[in-house]
Amino acid sequence: MSNAISIHPRVDNGIKPGSKDFAGGVLVCKCSDRPVKVEVKAQSMHNHACGCTKCWKPKGAVFSLVAVVPRDKVRVVENGDKLQVVDPKAAIQRHACKICGVHLFGRIEDRNHPFYGLDFIHTELSPDSGWSAPEFAAFVSSIIESGFPTSRMGDVRSRLKQLGLEPYDCLSPPLMDALATHAAKQKGVFREA
Ligand SMILES: [Zn+2]
Ligand SMILES: [Zn+2]
Repeated sequence: MSNAISIHPRVDNGIKPGSKDFAGGVLVCKCSDRPVKVEVKAQSMHNHACGCTKCWKPKGAVFSLVAVVPRDKVRVVENGDKLQVVDPKAAIQRHACKICGVHLFGRIEDRNHPFYGLDFIHTELSPDSGWSAPEFAAFVSSIIESGFPTSRMGDVRSRLKQLGLEPYDCLSPPLMDALATHAAKQKGVFREA
């Protein structure tokens, strides 16, 4: 397995399932001095590997691991003065530590956005174990935009499947359905059955 493509250090050796009764933990940035701490009082949902160019990932990782939680369960508890929004014009406002660069949470301020009410978090920033496990891989083709060789994409997709992370080039079908449902409701064409 030494030649296997590295996806992310937290999944390369197999995926640990989450704990049923887990109810959250604290996310901590990488600073040794005055780390930013963010309390999350909920289990993560829709945890997945993401190949986009916007999500924070540890050095050397090809994918990020990102999940969502209700925004009212997320609270900055220490050293919030070090946080700054990476791109205030982006739909997801990623609150990052100015010093170490880690993204503590991503928040949507547009109330009409389909994912309004959910914050994006990286559970690997928490020393607590029991967070829900990654379930799929999103925006797989986008890793090419970060400099990954196009010729190795077949290997990446095989490796993701081997790890049980079904590769998608956008989001997973349930999330794409949620986006389309939101759009249908806005257009007044939504049908329940
Ligand atoms: Zn930091
Ligand atoms: Zn992403």
